[in-house]
Amino acid sequence: MTASVWDAQDHDLELFERELSTFVPDRIFDAHAHLYAKAHFQAASPAIVAAGPDSVGLASYLQAMSELTPGRRYSGLFFGFPHAELDMDAANAFLAQEVRADNQSRAQMLIRPGMDPEFIRETVRREGFAGLKCYHVWATQQPTFDATVESFLPEEHVRVAHEEGLSITLHMVRARAMADPLNQQTIRTFAERYPNMRFILAHAARGFNPHHTIEGIGSLRGLRNVWCDTSAVTDGGAFEAIIDALGHDRLLYGSDFPVSHERGRCVAIGDSFLWLSEANTNFHVAYADLRPALVGLESLRVLKTACRTMRLSDSQVEDIFWGNAAELYGLS
Ligand SMILES: [Zn+2]
Repeated sequence: MTASVWDAQDHDLELFERELSTFVPDRIFDAHAHLYAKAHFQAASPAIVAAGPDSVGLASYLQAMSELTPGRRYSGLFFGFPHAELDMDAANAFLAQEVRADNQSRAQMLIRPGMDPEFIRETVRREGFAGLKCYHVWATQQPTFDATVESFLPEEHVRVAHEEGLSITLHMVRARAMADPLNQQTIRTFAERYPNMRFILAHAARGFNPHHTIEGIGSLRGLRNVWCDTSAVTDGGAFEAIIDALGHDRLLYGSDFPVSHERGRCVAIGDSFLWLSEANTNFHVAYADLRPALVGLESLRVLKTACRTMRLSDSQVEDIFWGNAAELYGLS
């Protein structure tokens, strides 16, 4: 892979200065970022991981974000990079060690179905994890892209989260995501039954096709233990729908680092979505010198548009980048 995947180039910085520098606050809590080491992957690591450094701890993260958004100070909610063939214990231990360096940052433990709930409780207490991160690649159902929430987030794990006051970042799957009645039912049931557990629905409630979030997010109206992060969403409409249905105080900025440092965009296509990248798209066109920007910048653009459309005040924008997470995690 080329260095252009990871490194901000002149046209990225120009985009940031032109469109984003007056929007993005100085202090940022990034509610969705991955820290990892290549050595923890037991098979070939994902392309974006393979293209970057061997060990991506807090310092690598801060360096990469300073290239994406110069001058901003970051803390965040971190977790490992979920992958079917991962040494999960090593990934969790690495994460806990890295995040300890910043008392305003938090870490979530990677979990998978079949893990003893008491093992999760003990590990969370010992390592100081603030939450849990589940993922469909470990679902008990195949194909995992069609998995129900329960098949990769068993209720006994949600109960531990409730008892320990933990957040759970949930990247739901199934074709229609938030518009899927089974997803809606399970999220609502778990949230109501376990009020001390806090759901963070990744990728604007997996609004990679924003129309799914627009259609379904109203089903979660009134739940006060559900948040959504903005990570890696680069098509318009989902953030507006979340702000409208749940309130601006339910939206958390997230970069999805290192996905933030890929080039391209994810766009709605019909009833699904497509990640446009140099690997699957010919960006050479006659009418322009087309230079794809980093995903993290594309996502910030869409967030800026949503905040303008919803007429959020500067302090409400700061809530999305810091205040909402500060309240959720008791930050100073
Ligand atoms: Zn992610």
